[in-house]
Formats: sequence, C-alpha cells, structure tokens
Amino acid sequence: MKFGTKAIHAGVHPDKSTGAIMTPIFQTSTYVQDSPGVHKGFEYSRTHNPTRKALEENIAALENGQYGLVFGSGMAATDTLLRTLKPGDEVIVSNDLYGGTYRVFTKVHAPWGLKFHFISMEDINNIKGYINDNTKMIWVETPTNPLINIIDIKGAAEIAKAHNLLLAVDNTFATPYLQNPLDLGADVVMHSVTKYLGGHSDVVMGALVTSHHDLAGQLSFLQNSCGAVAGPQDCFLVLRGIKTLHIRMQRHCENGREIAHWLNQHDKVEKVHWAGLETHPNHTIAKAQMRDFGGMVSFTLKGDNLEEATRLMSNLKVFSLAESLGGVESLCTHPTGMTHASIPKEQRIKNGLKDTLIRLSVGIEDVEDLIGDLKQAIEYAVLTEA
Ligand SMILES: *Cc1c(COP(=O)(O)O)cnc(C)c1O
Repeated sequence: MKFGTKAIHAGVHPDKSTGAIMTPIFQTSTYVQDSPGVHKGFEYSRTHNPTRKALEENIAALENGQYGLVFGSGMAATDTLLRTLKPGDEVIVSNDLYGGTYRVFTKVHAPWGLKFHFISMEDINNIKGYINDNTKMIWVETPTNPLINIIDIKGAAEIAKAHNLLLAVDNTFATPYLQNPLDLGADVVMHSVTKYLGGHSDVVMGALVTSHHDLAGQLSFLQNSCGAVAGPQDCFLVLRGIKTLHIRMQRHCENGREIAHWLNQHDKVEKVHWAGLETHPNHTIAKAQMRDFGGMVSFTLKGDNLEEATRLMSNLKVFSLAESLGGVESLCTHPTGMTHASIPKEQRIKNGLKDTLIRLSVGIEDVEDLIGDLKQAIEYAVLTEA
C-alpha cells in the first residue's frame, strides 16, 4: 500500500460488534474474562487498549516498521528507549536538538549513569572518534531543531552497524511522509506525535517504531512496567489526525517552500535555514533522504539585534507566538527564549544557535496571508525605534 492509503487504513478495522467504521474510543481500564486467564487479548489498559493498538499499528505501518508503541508524550517515548541502556553505557548525540531531549539526557539519564557526547554530525565521520567499548547508541535528530541541519541517516547507520550500536532517529520534524529512517538503516524511530502526526495542536503524545523483535519486546515490557502510556481518547484524536497527514504535509511543504524563498530574497533577512534551498550546506543529503523539505523554517534578521527580533515576533497577527510545531496553524517560536532555554548558553553558541534566531512552523493557511503577516512584522520590527 502507498502512503496515503496506509495513513487512512493501516491498523484500522471496522468495529466487530457494531460495524462502526471509525475505531471506537475504548474508554475502559479493564476487560471481563470468561474464566481466569481466558480473555479476548485485552486484560488491563496499561498493557493493551484496542484504540491504542490501532494507532500503534498505524504508526508502525507509516514508518515501514514491524512494531509501534505510543506513549503519554514524546519525552516518555525517549525515556523508555533510554531505559533499555544501563549505567556505564554511552550515547553519541547530534548536538542541535530539541531542548527537552537535551534536558532529559543531561539532567535525568546522566545522573543515573549514562554518558552522553553531544557532537556535530553534519560530517558523520565525527561520530567515529567518540565510539568506545561502552558506546551503545547513536541518537540523531534530523532535520535538527531549530537550525534545520540535515544528518546523513544512511551514513550514520553504516557506522552504527559496523560497531554494533543502535541508531535511534527522532523523526518528528520530517514525519514518515518525508523520511523513513528504518528504510535507511536506523534501528528505532522516535516521534513527538504531538506535532505533525497529531497535527491539530490538541494532543501530547510520543511513539517508538522498530522492526527488531527483541527490542520491541523490551520496549513493550518497559511501556507496561513504567506505565507512560497514551490514553484511548488521545489515540482516537491522533488516528483521526493521521488520516490527513499526507495532504497536510503537502501543503506544509508548499507553504514552507514559498516562505523560505520569500525570506531568502528579503533585504532585511540575514540567513534562512531550510534544507530545500540549494545554498543549504546539507541540501544534497536532504534531497537524497527526504521526499520534500517540510514546513519548519528558521531565520535571522540582518544586524543580529534581539530587540528587532522580539518586536517582529510580538507583532505577528496570523502566526501565533507559541512553543510547539506541526499543527495546521502557523506558529512562531523564539528558540533560545522558549523551546531551547534548557540548553546552556555556552552550549548553544557552540552549536551555532543565536539568540536572534526566529523559528517558524509554517501551517496550512493560504500562503499569501502568511507572507503578508511576515512582511508587516518585519517592516514594523526594523522601522520602529527601540
Ligand atoms: C516536541 C519534541 C519532542 C518532545 O515531544 P513531547 O511530545 O513534547 O514530549 C522531541 N523531539 C522533537 C524534535 C520535538 O519537536
């Protein structure tokens, strides 16, 4: 089946008792058994729930994976995956990444005994210098948040295989519509389902997908034991959201393209970060591993003036100033003041993340209105005296 058909049908079957075409919200904690241990495959909703099961199968299918698991948030998914490691193990991590991932690695998992190396992976050969006998995992986020760097997943997978390491890819920004890391050799994919998969800014959820039977067994043991599961109502909302993922992504990409090019020719704009621009340093890899370039666009204004950037962000009318991304509505974020505040300033500077960077999650509104909004906000920002 092709992507759009899978988005609508994978994992979803008419309800056996009524014929309902939409998967019901099985709002139940427990399931009646015929006699002790004799049941219909469901015992308790931390372990299994039919609405959750439909969504888990659906997301697994979209990522071309065998096993899918959904969690109460993207961070819960990440935490569950890291719990398969043990104290003393080391992880090599791409340095430009979601602030919450940096926080859970450095403030939760490091004190517990894991060791993390945050490195630039735009040249994946950098990874090799950090591998030792304790290395167990490579963690890649691509496109990276918020600088939209692209990391070569296939290249990273070759290094991981040669050293018997697990390659995990945070595929939140690309979505399975644009990129399938498992097909490129990754072992496990993580999603903040909160973003494009849910797509409507009304759910917080995370997912893991893998085709490794043993890893899937470990993950589902941890999902049940630690209990950070997603609820049935939220699973229903995400199943509904995913039915239009391919259509939404097409428009996110079209609008992202127009906005990136418009910003790129604007005489007040210093730099645009969007992998579809031929001038983007990783454009060739992006073209090879992604089907299109997505709707996340970051930029800086000329002069590097934080007051101007702040005026711009505060004066948008169609874009809303808010954390998060991937919803139908356009959002604007100030990474260093909002999503990435948990990364220390010295580390941010090392990664090339300026305080003046503005990040857009380009929605699926009419692009003329979005460009008009950016135009007036830039004019206001640069013409107004501080
Ligand atoms: C939002 C986000 C996360 C965290 O997911 P939550 O659902 O907010 O817990 C992880 N990675 C990326 C790239 C994100 O954008």
